[in-house]
Amino acid sequence: MSDFVEIVDVSPRDGLQSQPVLLDTSVKLELIQRLVDSGVRRMEAVSFVNPKRVPQMADAEQVIQGLPKQDGLTFIGLVLNMRGYERAITTGIDEINCVVVASETFNMRNQGASIDQTMQNVTDICKQAETTNIINGVTVSAAFGCPFEGEIPQGQVINLVERLADIGYKEIALADTIGVASPSDVSRLLTGINRLNLDIKLRCHFHNTRNTAVANTYVAIQEGVRSFDASCGGVGGCPFAPAATGNVATEDLLYMINRMGMRTNINIDKVIETAQWLEGPLQASVPSMLAKAGVFPKSD
Ligand code: ZN
Repeated sequence: MSDFVEIVDVSPRDGLQSQPVLLDTSVKLELIQRLVDSGVRRMEAVSFVNPKRVPQMADAEQVIQGLPKQDGLTFIGLVLNMRGYERAITTGIDEINCVVVASETFNMRNQGASIDQTMQNVTDICKQAETTNIINGVTVSAAFGCPFEGEIPQGQVINLVERLADIGYKEIALADTIGVASPSDVSRLLTGINRLNLDIKLRCHFHNTRNTAVANTYVAIQEGVRSFDASCGGVGGCPFAPAATGNVATEDLLYMINRMGMRTNINIDKVIETAQWLEGPLQASVPSMLAKAGVFPKSD
């Protein structure tokens, strides 16, 4: 198996979407440029959602206009419905990421639709996207538990993954949106999905709400996953999930991955510097551990 692990930094979107402070477009672009300078090559930069519901993401079009034009970068925009897809297409963004929530109640709160309606939407979007150059992925949210319904049966998640693969999705992310998964949950779910031998790339999206995200990532790497969402500084949350907190910090994952002898091509010191810088605009300290403790042993 490859020793390369891809980190998709989601701080500009998942990280900022529920911050009490509204950041200027220029500050978001500085965050993105700093991450690019650290070696991050794929990033979730914006979401195309109703600006009345998520005012933090209202400037998606302006952010995309200002994105670095360097080769080899992929920027992702979150899309929840056909209206979001149409906005995304006009901006020329590289990639969109759709969402299906594994829980009926949460799906209704997050996207204002039933799971079946959302599956129809992501089918339509997939068909449309196939006629363009845009890359189209999908996330199964609340794949390990729901703030409203509690436990989510793993069979339900596996069934959604199978249906999404049938529709034509080539990359599917499993999100622990409210940070409840334990390593054994991750191992069981990934084993179940791997058994299907689907022609897909799996990505994991862990939140560190209950301090299990780094351990969950370790287990997912053992199960063959080589792509992870993480956010600089560990900032984040979900505006529609009570008590949701940050994504696992990019630098916390980098530390473990580096110590495992695997590669990411991302400079951990630069990510830590960016996390510390981000505390200024957010007017708050960031939850990551490495931003406080620093790397070991110290880099030269
Ligand atoms: Zn998230």
